[in-house]
Amino acid sequence: MRTILFFLVILSLLVMPSVASGQTGPSPADRRIALSFDDAPRGDGPIFTGEERTAALLDSLQTAGVGTAVFFVTTRGLDTPAGRERIARYAEAGHLIANHSHSHTWLSGTDPDAYIADIDRAEGLLPPHVQRRPWFRFPFLDEGNERELRDRLRDALDARGLMNGYVTVDNYDWYIDQRWQQAVRDGRPVDRDALRRAYVDLILGAVEFYDSLAVSTLGRSPAHVLLLHENDLAAAFVDDLVIALRVAGWTIVSPDEAYADPIASIVPQTLMTRQGHVGALAVDAGADPRTFSHRAIEEEQIDAMLEERGVFGEPLASDGGQREKSG
Ligand SMILES: [Zn+2]
Repeated sequence: MRTILFFLVILSLLVMPSVASGQTGPSPADRRIALSFDDAPRGDGPIFTGEERTAALLDSLQTAGVGTAVFFVTTRGLDTPAGRERIARYAEAGHLIANHSHSHTWLSGTDPDAYIADIDRAEGLLPPHVQRRPWFRFPFLDEGNERELRDRLRDALDARGLMNGYVTVDNYDWYIDQRWQQAVRDGRPVDRDALRRAYVDLILGAVEFYDSLAVSTLGRSPAHVLLLHENDLAAAFVDDLVIALRVAGWTIVSPDEAYADPIASIVPQTLMTRQGHVGALAVDAGADPRTFSHRAIEEEQIDAMLEERGVFGEPLASDGGQREKSG
């Protein structure tokens, strides 16, 4: 009898996941997240060439059954036929294309007219396509460190019919990717399984962190927008990331669906926007941004995790290469 009961419980868990987990917290249908990839098309690296990265990323997304993600394009990468071809491939695969500026500069400290001209330049260079969206993602999530500058840009985006392509889940995927590039350049052995687990754990931790912050701020879990980059980690492991998200009860939705969430029309008052839209709304609601510290956005903590897990072996040689900053 106990065996049959056990069997029935397992069966109910398998066939009715929404009922099984709906007893506490939101049902899986309420945990929605869209994937966004910044900085496409990024250049060649020691692990993948740009073309290889695009092919691998498209393959991973298809393997994971992700029909629609969004690529925020830095149009300085469209000055070669290969760069334009890669963006066309993303669009043809069903993914969305939007503006991430031409030159990828910080807004703070930049002349606003020059910054706006750079957005217009990117709009002009992005290919007209059914997959194109009127969204602008601020490089480095820098929406301006002064109210006048911030409001100037908000007005400029409004005048152009461009929506702020915000993220709700910030993380340092770019930092692990940078560490991977450097390790390969330095001739260090890389434990790919450990690297994959570190990447997946880091992103999942960030997703849960910002979802908890959203629930405590808004009283509900919004449709999230996950910040990722068009980097080698995504190309190699995004299918594993998607599996892990689904196991945690997340449904991958299109960016159109995510940006239709009511939080899209809430305009943050705080200037603290560099940890995304949910972070800004939490600060507006009285949260202390110093409490947002978690390992997904702390370089020292990420270094410690990579070290502890033995992701990179002892250097066999060092060329003293320069690190590249991404964002
Ligand atoms: Zn960027």
